[in-house]
Amino acid sequence: MSSYLFDTPEIQSIPVKGEDAQYPINRIFCVGRNYAAHAAEMGVEVDREAPFYFTKSPSANLASGSTIPYPLGTENYHYEMELVLVIGKPAFRVSVAEAGDKIYAYGCGLDMTRRDLQLAARAKQRPWDLGKDVEDSAVFAPLTKAAELGELGAQRIHLEVNGEVKQDAHLRDLIHNVYEIVADLSKYYHLVPGDVIMTGTPAGVGPVVAGDKITGGVDGLEPIELTIGAPE
Ligand code: MN
Repeated sequence: MSSYLFDTPEIQSIPVKGEDAQYPINRIFCVGRNYAAHAAEMGVEVDREAPFYFTKSPSANLASGSTIPYPLGTENYHYEMELVLVIGKPAFRVSVAEAGDKIYAYGCGLDMTRRDLQLAARAKQRPWDLGKDVEDSAVFAPLTKAAELGELGAQRIHLEVNGEVKQDAHLRDLIHNVYEIVADLSKYYHLVPGDVIMTGTPAGVGPVVAGDKITGGVDGLEPIELTIGAPE
């Protein structure tokens, strides 16, 4: 057994409905602009050829139900409600038809974003890390095993701030569906159990302020909740 100079980081994980054991997080991939109406509100064209990705550090993981301080370095912190899928079997160069077998579970997620810093980076053609890889910005509700959710499409995906509906769409509105995403990402990565994919957000993104309570859901999945506190 190796010894380490410092305490090792704790393993990040997400609860699974009906299981005592947690789903351990290896990597967090995020899909950009995967709903046409959201791409339009961001002022950009949708790329229907292939998805594109950015990542968040596993240490950005935060359990649904948490309260966080308003984050550092932003004046425009945005919510993004997303369908999340998690990988359950190794997947490398899989076809769209093979992809479903690799998905262990689905859940609700929030891809919290420093929108001011993301847009500034975009304008300068710089990476999005300061905007997207924010501490406590990958919020996950407990997962539901894939077989329990059934066919994807008709489910509503929605988010409210202080009870007011801000995002309201259906999973059929995804430009690249979950199978296409897994197949495409497996061209670039050896996907393994522990890999988490946030599939993109519908239209209606917007800012939160200290004191706001975010709630969201996808039909058939466990709901998600996040409260924004005063800044540090
Ligand atoms: Mn997103």
